[in-house]
Amino acid sequence: MSFQPPKGTDDVLAPESESWRAALRQWESWAERYGYPLVLIPVIESTDLFERGVGNTTEVVTKQMYTFTDQGGRSVTLRPEGTAGVVRAFLNSGHQGPWKAAYSGPFFRYERPQAGRRRQFFQVGVEYMDVESPEADAEVIELGFRYLTDIGVPELELTINSLGDSECRPVFVDELRSYLRAKESELTDSSAELIDKNPLRVLDSKADGPKLVDHPRMIDHLCDSCTEHHETVKRLLAELEVPYVEDDGLVRGLDYYTRTAFEYVGRALDAAQNAVGGGGRYDGLAEAIGGRRAPGVGFALGVDRIMLSVGQEIDTPLDAYLVSETGPADALIAASSLRRDGLRVDFDTEGRSVKAQFRTASRAGAPVVLVWRGDGQPVDIQTRDGRAERPLEEVSSWFRTAR
Ligand code: AMP
Repeated sequence: MSFQPPKGTDDVLAPESESWRAALRQWESWAERYGYPLVLIPVIESTDLFERGVGNTTEVVTKQMYTFTDQGGRSVTLRPEGTAGVVRAFLNSGHQGPWKAAYSGPFFRYERPQAGRRRQFFQVGVEYMDVESPEADAEVIELGFRYLTDIGVPELELTINSLGDSECRPVFVDELRSYLRAKESELTDSSAELIDKNPLRVLDSKADGPKLVDHPRMIDHLCDSCTEHHETVKRLLAELEVPYVEDDGLVRGLDYYTRTAFEYVGRALDAAQNAVGGGGRYDGLAEAIGGRRAPGVGFALGVDRIMLSVGQEIDTPLDAYLVSETGPADALIAASSLRRDGLRVDFDTEGRSVKAQFRTASRAGAPVVLVWRGDGQPVDIQTRDGRAERPLEEVSSWFRTAR
């Protein structure tokens, strides 16, 4: 076949896809425990939403969006991230007061592809809206940390910072701008261009960041209420026994990101792609996309990177493989009855020999083989430890007692 998946996209097949399925189930279980119901939002949104909600000076918006004009002449974009869409959905719902949502699905960015950096990638995340307290930040940060710990990301490290708010941040940004202007001749052209537009992003630059070791730090410029918020978040994390490292270089270069910013880093991964997730508070975002004031906090985790760092493969879980001595039509009906009883069962639809069916059962790793010998005959239940015989309608209760 001549077709390949588009550059930067992947087919994920079993058994690898089975570890994805397990990881996503684990995610749903953690999100439910913290009271985050599922939200389903479109994969395409109007381009404006991302220009305003992610920011039109960010690399994501200026260089990485899959934008096209639809048949109705509207500019739409494949979602590069989840927060803007979820906040839009929250505002459209008209809900007032605290509101939680968990999401998962594919996202799209035109990146230079490499391991852990794809053009289509998968994120899970949460957003917690209309909340201002440091307890909300701590709960969100803890949820991501518990999930990543449970799934076993090796050498997991949580880094946190505070970005200030509309009161203290502008003072800091002015000071940072003056500092960068004084160094302008040492900077790359793309960083120099950002000094006016978005100086915080210069600190993020791979080429120039390391030259700026003595840059002014937001953490030294926080106003009293931001300091108190930040100190409380850190104290709550300590009480929750969530270890963190303070990183005053962690920035999100947009005005509507405020106060808490954090990242989950898998130190065992290649340094260029070791962020397995990130998030923070975005008290100005709802207004930036044309809504009312609605402060919020959330995170997104990159499942592709989580799977790279966890790296286990799980085989398709089957309770039993049904081998039929009387052909596939009988097996179809017997398998259906077992499946409706709740068992995970597979069988051969192609009428292959009994020997071939046993081979498939063993390749599938089925812990039990059920030999179907025909109507009215008991089913021969074969396990590693021995055999039993039961009428078809008693097979599922045999499983319940045998386990
Ligand atoms: P961001 O929305 O950029 O904060 O990304 C949140 C998380 O999504 C990152 O920490 C990564 O784990 C993951 N991620 C972002 N972009 C990509 C990509 N192009 N390929 C794979 N994972 C990504």
